[in-house]
Amino acid sequence: MGNLYKFWSYDIFICIVCLQNYLLSSTAYLVHKMEKFMSEALEEAKKALREFNEVPVGCVFVYKNEIIARGHNLVNLTKNPTRHAEFVCIDKVLHYCKINQLDFSDVFKEIIVVVNVEPCVMCMSALYDLKIKEIYYGCKNDRFGGSTVVNVANLVKTDTTLIGEINDKEAMDLLKQFYATGNPLAPISAKPL
Ligand SMILES: [Zn+2]
Repeated sequence: MGNLYKFWSYDIFICIVCLQNYLLSSTAYLVHKMEKFMSEALEEAKKALREFNEVPVGCVFVYKNEIIARGHNLVNLTKNPTRHAEFVCIDKVLHYCKINQLDFSDVFKEIIVVVNVEPCVMCMSALYDLKIKEIYYGCKNDRFGGSTVVNVANLVKTDTTLIGEINDKEAMDLLKQFYATGNPLAPISAKPL
């Protein structure tokens, strides 16, 4: 009985080690995959800053491992405060569904959102409402974050996975660059001297 117990313990130990290795490798793979998509989101954010002098937020929407929408903030250009990167991408996904004759509610449920800054309360609410599968973000949004400032997940029922702080330094550096020169739409009293 003692030997049997020893074999059982050994087998269980081996199983735990195998499971741990499997989880570590799949997590590493997932993080690696998200970093690839995060670099695409950062490219959008850089474009927003360099070409449009917008708050450098960019994102990509991934469906079946392919980017089907990419976008960045267009608030200053359009003078429309709802034109955040996430909303720009939501509109593009709706267009994608229309031309491919897909049910948008089914597509959004399979979408992974990768954005360089934590979505604001407005965008986070919209993403949860659309039942997005997973959201990965770069740096935290200490002013308007839909998790850091107001935890929207506590207010609505959601199964969406939210994972943050991926390549957060690069995202934060871009925001610092933008705010160092001043938001062109900010009130004069709020601009740096
Ligand atoms: Zn937003």
